[in-house]
Amino acid sequence: MADKIGLTTTIPVEIVYAAGKIPVDLNNLFITCDAPGRLVDRAEQAGYPRNICGWIKGLYTTLLEQESLRQVIAVTQGDCSNTHALMETWQVAGVAVIPFAFPYDRDADLLRLQMEKLMQLLGADWEAVGRWKKRLDQVRKKAHEIDRLTWEAGVVDGQTNHLALVGCSDFNGDPDAYEAYLDGIIAEAARNSTQGLAGDRQAVRLAYVGVPPIVSDLYSYVESMGARVVFNEVQRQFAMPFDEDDIIEQYRRYTYPYSIFDRIDDINREVARRRVDGIIHYTQSFCYRQIEDIILRQRTAVPVLTLEGDRPGPLDARSRMRIDAFLDMLAR
Ligand code: SF4
Repeated sequence: MADKIGLTTTIPVEIVYAAGKIPVDLNNLFITCDAPGRLVDRAEQAGYPRNICGWIKGLYTTLLEQESLRQVIAVTQGDCSNTHALMETWQVAGVAVIPFAFPYDRDADLLRLQMEKLMQLLGADWEAVGRWKKRLDQVRKKAHEIDRLTWEAGVVDGQTNHLALVGCSDFNGDPDAYEAYLDGIIAEAARNSTQGLAGDRQAVRLAYVGVPPIVSDLYSYVESMGARVVFNEVQRQFAMPFDEDDIIEQYRRYTYPYSIFDRIDDINREVARRRVDGIIHYTQSFCYRQIEDIILRQRTAVPVLTLEGDRPGPLDARSRMRIDAFLDMLAR
């Protein structure tokens, strides 16, 4: 069986597949396990401070509890400065860490160099990477179709959209099975469409912006209150929503690892195209990205609700009340 390699976030995953290895996005593994809160507690018991982001603590324990994962690709630039210390605590525990850096200024030569270093380390070449890009793009196209069925046809809900897009970071380690999962969502959407089960066209249309939520019921809650999430910003980026043949360009156009201004351009384009009424900006407690909220609020044209999450679990009462008031304001 092929070796598994953990990922701390989205990287050029074509390289991992081209090297004959199985990528495992630790974020997805952490948040979909039975008791993600226990993994955060265990990291704190190991000495992780209370005032460090829950995702980092969850990732730490997730990797250590997976005996089949003794190697991880950690993004040292373009994601999270906490990853540096996270890597070091893994190294102490005997995990082999491979750093990967997205150049802040999107320099094409530096990005190519990073990708070639990763290829060399894992044992992949450009030919195999190109073949995998073609294969993964076929699967990504289905995720893009699910996204269209969400915002344009209204036959896929925001949570299903979130899961379909976010999983494109690693294709759950099996692109064929992932494609079948996406086909299932598309078939279900077609059934909803023929039965006239499109979502409420009068519903408040929301964008979800920011890192994926650590809270478990955000989508079900907002949709139970009569709103629809028609745009999942970062998750859509994980699915590489570009018609781009050049793999270097693909990872230059991918907005998440670069400046907030590139992300805001993408957000504003999609907010207009998808006729979004309001934005939920999800921020994670103790995350540096909370600071970017200042800029986001100044540069977007629709109202923004900033919602903060800390540990895994359902929304707290205060957050639910703030969502209620926001939706009420948008519906008027
Ligand atoms: S939420 Fe912020 S602090 Fe936490 S892992 Fe992501 S980027 Fe880092």
